[in-house]
Amino acid sequence: MKFTDFNLKPTIQQAIAEAGFNEPSPVQKEAIPLILEGHDIIAQAQTGTGKTAAFGLPILSMMKADGTVEGLVIVPTRELAMQVSDELYRFGKASGLKTATVYGGASYSQQIERIRQASVVVATPGRLQDLMMSGKIKLNPQFVVLDEADEMLDMGFLDEIKNIFTFLPKNRQTLMFSATMPPMIRKLAEEILNHPKTVTVTKQERTNSDITQHYYVVEESERDDALVRLIDFKNPTKCIIFCRMKKEVDRLVSHLTSQGFKVSGLHGDMEQKQREVTIRAFKQGGIDIFVATDVAARGLDVNDVTHVFNYHIPFDSESYVHRIGRTGRAGKTGEAITLVTPVELRAIKRIEKDVGAKLVTQVIPTRQEVRDSKDNELLLQVANTQVTPQAITLVKTLQHDLDIVTIAHLLASMVQESSNIKGKENIGLRLEEIEMLLERMANQRGDSRNRGRQRNDRGGRNDRGGGNRHDRGGRNDRNDRSRQGPKNKHQQSQKKSN
Ligand code: ADP
Ligand code: MG
Repeated sequence: MKFTDFNLKPTIQQAIAEAGFNEPSPVQKEAIPLILEGHDIIAQAQTGTGKTAAFGLPILSMMKADGTVEGLVIVPTRELAMQVSDELYRFGKASGLKTATVYGGASYSQQIERIRQASVVVATPGRLQDLMMSGKIKLNPQFVVLDEADEMLDMGFLDEIKNIFTFLPKNRQTLMFSATMPPMIRKLAEEILNHPKTVTVTKQERTNSDITQHYYVVEESERDDALVRLIDFKNPTKCIIFCRMKKEVDRLVSHLTSQGFKVSGLHGDMEQKQREVTIRAFKQGGIDIFVATDVAARGLDVNDVTHVFNYHIPFDSESYVHRIGRTGRAGKTGEAITLVTPVELRAIKRIEKDVGAKLVTQVIPTRQEVRDSKDNELLLQVANTQVTPQAITLVKTLQHDLDIVTIAHLLASMVQESSNIKGKENIGLRLEEIEMLLERMANQRGDSRNRGRQRNDRGGRNDRGGGNRHDRGGRNDRNDRSRQGPKNKHQQSQKKSN
């Protein structure tokens, strides 16, 4: 099946060709014809499968560009609003369709002005509700999309969403997209959709099979060292490191910066401008590592994220799926790496079961192993390097005083030194130790079942709400400050010993 098989108007077809999309993705194949026929739909597809274009292309194609707002897309976060808006703008440009992006923390008047000129409004729930309730804008869109619906409910936007729908026309076409379909979503769907068609393109595995998933077992105090070692070893083009708290983000950013990485943080407390600049830098390659909280990185679509690190295990499986979905996008492969402590083994096993994918445990490479792999890379690099005239001059100069073998040794030492492997020789548990723990856990399982399931193994649900609120409002950051002192000292002494 090709995009030209859909009944999309020529200017949209042209935009698809310009975007370089060759073939519709599974969710696009199913959703686009249904939307063009005028159905409400509820669509579930894993993250990174092209849901934006699945709703964007057909609604843009049906718009008249008559100077009114014809489409409203509601998304959970500012970043996502900008991202979806950019993508829709790209597809609608040739059809004369403008987009307006509406989110909190930016000027009202500018947004209202943009809305006046737009065919499509992409908005986060909070600001949109503000604008509607205060009567600052009146929208009469024919198409309404709830994108990343599960995320929105997770973030506590249910009331806002219900309220927004009271301001929307009854004779609209409503489309709901979500990576997961918990009961709350189905219930909301019943309320706002009209005889919807269901599109489900989940495979047996809920996570994208282009993502390999590993976990490493470390002691609590080894997280930083483990992370640095793994970055050294895996050598990611770009990576995202997930933390649970903003404080953790800030601390890790300064730690990784001090280790010489090009790194930046992303969390809910940052100024809007600063977030935009950071995301752009990450996309363009000025920054290689992003340290982020769950909320800040939701839906983020950055090409070439080769690795996702979970510095801490996420609070639940849904969050795990979303986090690792930042890699392996648009058919590329990716790797997801989770650090767990022995007490978190049970939680990682539960995630493994929930997502239905195999999480393979691995041992953190020793310094020597990283050294060897770097040397191999170096050998390859040397073999593939062209000799420059300046290099010949340099060697000639050196040859006045030194023989050629000494020169080679010196230069090789310099290059090796520049990729200094940090940390102690061995980090984390050995495979036998992990296997023993897993075995012990399996034996215990029978007992704990008899005692009834402990849902809150690690704090679970309750913690999670707290984490999100923390992220958005940032009120109670007193709690984690006490952690920093001893850890920093530990790192300093570690560094000196290198
Ligand atoms: P989702 O919302 O399902 O997580 P996105 O809509 O953000 O996924 O799409 C992920 C990436 O895939 C985007 O960079 C998008 O431009 C790209 N993409 C979408 N559809 C196609 C397609 N048919 N062919 C190639 N790339 C695509
Ligand atoms: Mg999306």
